[in-house]
Amino acid sequence: MRRLLTALALILGPGLAQAAQPILLKPARVWTAESAGPPREGWAVLVQDDKIAAVGPASQIDATGAQVVDLPGTTLLPGLMDLHSHLFLHPYNETLWDDQVLKESPTYRTLRAAVQAKATLEAGFTTLRDLGTEGVGAADAPLKKAINDGLIPGPRLFVATNAIVATNSYGPARRNYNPEAELPQGAQEASGVDEVVKAVRQQAGAGADWIKVYADYRFGPDGSTKPTFSLEELKALVEAAHSSGRPVAAHASGDEGMRRAILAGVDTIEHGYGGSDDTFKLMAQKGVVFFPTLTAVESTSTYFGGYVAGQTPPTAAMQNAQRAFKLAVRNGVVIGMGSDVGVFKHGDNARELVWLVREGMTPVQALLAATAVDAKVLGRAHDLGQLKPGYLADIVAVTGDPTQAIEATQAVVFVMKGGQVVRRP
Ligand SMILES: [Zn+2]
Repeated sequence: MRRLLTALALILGPGLAQAAQPILLKPARVWTAESAGPPREGWAVLVQDDKIAAVGPASQIDATGAQVVDLPGTTLLPGLMDLHSHLFLHPYNETLWDDQVLKESPTYRTLRAAVQAKATLEAGFTTLRDLGTEGVGAADAPLKKAINDGLIPGPRLFVATNAIVATNSYGPARRNYNPEAELPQGAQEASGVDEVVKAVRQQAGAGADWIKVYADYRFGPDGSTKPTFSLEELKALVEAAHSSGRPVAAHASGDEGMRRAILAGVDTIEHGYGGSDDTFKLMAQKGVVFFPTLTAVESTSTYFGGYVAGQTPPTAAMQNAQRAFKLAVRNGVVIGMGSDVGVFKHGDNARELVWLVREGMTPVQALLAATAVDAKVLGRAHDLGQLKPGYLADIVAVTGDPTQAIEATQAVVFVMKGGQVVRRP
């Protein structure tokens, strides 16, 4: 059989020869994300082409002819997911958000995004939902295509293009600049049902997989968080998005913005720092998934709020975020893993997993959030987020056992995406 394949490969070219050899991954243990159970010692995973062919005790897998990759001391788990990223941003302590949007060219920001996509994949994050380019239009759609075409390395991307904001509610805030100047904006502005629906359709046409809306923002007279869109506008937005087959992610930090977004029928709430008990109850009832983005608050508190990890108490903003997270957990809200990376360094996404555990999730719950739960949010529970025969071979190995110590997710030594080895020891 091997000889026949080799002969065929000579006729048909090298592609077949590469595709034909299975890969057997032999770690110390395998955590499949099929349940909250522990990892299985002595298991292995067989990969054929872009899919998982077998998962089980190493002695029971027929790996004839396979290339064996030994990964001693590691735990194999599904490729990690971060469903709140901004590949087109870089940390605000390097360059302020306003300056990125106002002073950096879209071309420069797109080149950076490609570099940042590679760093993310190498850190074991094989899937991202990228929630808005923040001023680079729909450049995330061609970035996704370049990754899918194999031109550049990067995670599987689910993109939101520009995101939608209410007129004059977002940044750079015009009130802070020459009011007569035309300023680039971080997202697409819309007001009224007609404009909001039109924006959804424009972004869908430009390649959005998800529609991202800012249900509130810091645009009160004193810079406080206020709801932006009316319930009527949000309902129209969600209806237009859903009827086009696209789910909706709502940025909402305040309780009223969250409440309106939930009532309008959004699929996920991002941040939710000011959410009340009633609002989290409503979220749980309606099955709206929560992305608490705890690392973003830690980061901005570090950059601008005088917070020093291990030396100062958490800032008021951090305490709010921690309070909201605990309230969500207590009310049984489904919690996904989304970090708002871009506010902090790309490739450091696993910091969010550490936060989820620090605030009360078990390591396994946090790992499920970053695998099976996130896959379900993406509508891809059937082929992503678990190690199961027939699933896409997005697989990482970390030193140690992350189900015991979540910090192991920061020690990635092997990454495979769609059966292609991205990184190995
Ligand atoms: Zn964000």
